[in-house]
Amino acid sequence: MDWSMKDHNFKVQLFRFVDAFPALTTPEMVHDHLVDYLTQPGVKAPPFMDLGLKAGGVAKGMMTKTISSQINNMAKNFIAGTDANDALPMLGKLWKNGIAFSVDLLGEACVSNAEADAYQAKYLDLVENLVGEASTWEQTERLESDHLGIVPRVNVSIKVTSLCANFNPIAPEASIADFMQRATPVLQAANANGVLINFDMEQHELKDLTLETFMHACESIDFEAGLAMQAYLKSGVDDAKRIANWAKKTEKVVTVRLVKGAYWDFETIHAEQEGWPCPVWNEKWQTDQCFEQMVEVFLDACPTKPGEGGIKLALGSHNVRSIAAALAGLDKRGLPRKAMELQMLHGMADQLKYAAEEMGLRVREYVPVGEMIPGMAYLVRRLLENTSNESWLKSGFLDKADTASLLADPTTQHKGTLPTDLYEIAPERHQLSPTNEHIGAGRPFYSEPLRDFADETQRNAFARQMSVTTVPSIANDHTVEQGLAMIESANNAFPAWRDFDPIKRAQILERIATMMTGRRDELSAIVCKEARKTWNEADADVCEAIDFCAYYARTAPELFTPKRLGKFIGELDELWYQPKGVAVVISPWNFPLAICCGMTVAALVTGNTVVLKPAEQTPGIAKVMFDIISDALDEFNAPTNVLHFCPAPGETTGAALVRDPRISLIAFTGSKAVGLDIIKAAGNTSEEQHMVKRVICEMGGKNAIIVDASADLDEAVLGVRYSAFGFQGQKCSACSRCIVVDPQGPEGPRMKLFLERLGESTKTLILGAPDDPNSDVSPVIDAEAATNINRFIESARAEGLTELVGSNDFDIPTGIDDLIAPHIFTGVTETSTIYTQEIFGPVLAVIHASDFNEAMRLANNHAYKLTGGVFTRKPAHINQSKSEFRVGNLYINRGCTGALVGRQPFGGFGMSGVGSKAGGPDYLYQFVDPRASAENTMRRGFAPEL
Ligand code: NAD
Repeated sequence: MDWSMKDHNFKVQLFRFVDAFPALTTPEMVHDHLVDYLTQPGVKAPPFMDLGLKAGGVAKGMMTKTISSQINNMAKNFIAGTDANDALPMLGKLWKNGIAFSVDLLGEACVSNAEADAYQAKYLDLVENLVGEASTWEQTERLESDHLGIVPRVNVSIKVTSLCANFNPIAPEASIADFMQRATPVLQAANANGVLINFDMEQHELKDLTLETFMHACESIDFEAGLAMQAYLKSGVDDAKRIANWAKKTEKVVTVRLVKGAYWDFETIHAEQEGWPCPVWNEKWQTDQCFEQMVEVFLDACPTKPGEGGIKLALGSHNVRSIAAALAGLDKRGLPRKAMELQMLHGMADQLKYAAEEMGLRVREYVPVGEMIPGMAYLVRRLLENTSNESWLKSGFLDKADTASLLADPTTQHKGTLPTDLYEIAPERHQLSPTNEHIGAGRPFYSEPLRDFADETQRNAFARQMSVTTVPSIANDHTVEQGLAMIESANNAFPAWRDFDPIKRAQILERIATMMTGRRDELSAIVCKEARKTWNEADADVCEAIDFCAYYARTAPELFTPKRLGKFIGELDELWYQPKGVAVVISPWNFPLAICCGMTVAALVTGNTVVLKPAEQTPGIAKVMFDIISDALDEFNAPTNVLHFCPAPGETTGAALVRDPRISLIAFTGSKAVGLDIIKAAGNTSEEQHMVKRVICEMGGKNAIIVDASADLDEAVLGVRYSAFGFQGQKCSACSRCIVVDPQGPEGPRMKLFLERLGESTKTLILGAPDDPNSDVSPVIDAEAATNINRFIESARAEGLTELVGSNDFDIPTGIDDLIAPHIFTGVTETSTIYTQEIFGPVLAVIHASDFNEAMRLANNHAYKLTGGVFTRKPAHINQSKSEFRVGNLYINRGCTGALVGRQPFGGFGMSGVGSKAGGPDYLYQFVDPRASAENTMRRGFAPEL
């Protein structure tokens, strides 16, 4: 540990290893991973480890043993036992020493109803059985009473997410109802046994919903209630006032455990990734200040006599300054010391605990119990905290900071200006595109942030739009003649558009982006209803369309500015690009706005005129987009007839459009069959044709995710589930093959555990209408698709595959057509139909691999090369995937869908397509022809530059 504080790189790798450790089932795996982590570039292992890392034989075995026992000891330091029974002797000892406890069940992320049921059973066990043993302990007045009366001896902390696998702010009422179903027996048992139940606070996304849930539970059931609240949230003081006012109003007495917060790094990282304002304070002193302000709110709300509603404060801090400020707050109000308790973590700050106990304060330890695997996330958080330079304990005990600075008012640490929130400077920080002073205020591109459905205002606005929006009814009735007439018109419009100012063309895209941003929720509602996308998916579709406009607006202008090559005196060499001509854009239904818009605006911004033929299933949203683009073109006085809208059947009108000799370019996204047909047709050149057609063609995928032996299963289960069943598996990037590594065979423990968790987790998905925010899985695109998918399901059964999850595992609501339940098949081989064919539906084939090399071979053994994923905690396997997993888009330790413009340029090769990546720096080159000139600028031996 000391070494980890000296060497940051070592600390990162050591903690990563600690995190992976419980998943490593043999001494060989432990050694292998340890060596891998500690020999990463830039890592300097401490001298005593160096030898073991290099050695083999006995030294190797010794080191593995030593490290394993050190990690186990570290875990024991912070985790009191594998379960409450195991921890009881320790809890009894604590009590004897004058310290109370609150037991916390450590657990893996709860990803299924089955796991939520198991948590419920464990909580019930705690509530019912701890009391029995604890009642034999000696009466300790200081620990069992406050200024209002009795304080329960047994405290149990629960996580709301552990009792509800679908705890999701997008659907608050359903989440609360689901939670209450399992929580009610626990809370009732707690009440019967005189146990205090404390609701823990988790990530910010769940904060408001947790507060709602807590208040709802208190109002519906009588129990001794506690709630954790976090001062690192910028909303801390408002949250405190909200709960304090509620308690006063409803005359409830609740305990609030005020903590600073344990997920600061996560919140900061997550907010930046989403492009959202950061919910936590940037600087530590701001958290400390907020903590003291929240203390004031809670102490003001402290009941002074029995019968009054209000807040009893439990101070969860190891910072002596924060504790002293709270004690002063008590004195100021004439409240006795027993009106507040101190809570500290098990395994930390023991000197402080006993000093406080000697002062007569009521001290309670937060005591985690649980198994090694779920314990690791907690352990790593504690290790990070103990080695953080911002930790008060580290400053006080290890760094020996002086007393004045340790006890200083937090505001005195405010020096200089405060750092800006990262989302405000995101475009400049990430430089995802070139800039142009005339486009987007000269700022680089940055992604349009998704809606934050945890935010009530955003959620309600979206719901309102959903309830009033209808899908325009557009017939796919354009005939071949009409289509060809559009090509003629587009061809005539081409010269004027080609010669139009490229900056203005880019500004038109910017304007389209702005118009779409202004109508975001309306567009999402249309996508939701027409393409049957759930809220999140529809929102992402619209954001991606906006991103394509904003990104291509910034990347197009420089193509048309001649770039000088070299600096030769007397010679001016230049390179630039020109538009190609008429483009036919043929789009699919599965990203009915994003892909349709991306291909169309790419063609337009590069000076091509366009005939757009949208998918037959989604002409409504395409028409709305066409109108928006047309309005933007008009605003900028663009030449007329630059863009044509041709809703029509693909086999007839679409086929004729791509065969017309007057077109120069085809931008197609869709199935392999149609894509190959178009490529073939484009290769037939007629006499009258003036150029060879370019085909940009994005086709299908049969994407695989590898779940390695060291994978974090919490992440892998959710990542595979979402990649396979998000939008009903109808994304070209969807995972339809899952390759699970288990060296112990297809019946091995890793395989079993993963399949059990994945299966149960999938069964908790909720099937329903797309505009119902509660739905995870809505109907597939149409009846024809449903029939096709069902045929694949039948083929899997006929081939004797095992149906791990199928229709019988779900409540399938009646009255909604084309709903297909997620299906998972195991026992799959490389020749199984569902393993080889693109299904484009919610069907996942799981196959076993004995080791990572075999997994890699299986993953690569397919003609489609679109996306791929790997869940692993072995650094060497991450590197191997990057070099050997040959797909267009590789995702490591995350799901394999959801590419973002500019950040993850998207597209495959092999049978997945020809062309460079959409939303990437070279996409637009496909829509133009390069030209170069060389000018001799020397006249009679004289050149201007010399
Ligand atoms: P599809 O091939 O059936 O239809 C795509 C478009 O082609 C539609 O507009 C359709 O009307 C048109 N079309 C059909 N026959 C035609 C013909 N003979 N000539 C010209 N046009 C014709 O595909 P789909 O069902 O709309 O979309 C699903 C497919 O798209 C999947 O295979 C999926 O993998 C693929 N896809 C790929 C990507 C990618 O980026 N690689 C993205 C989205 C979808």
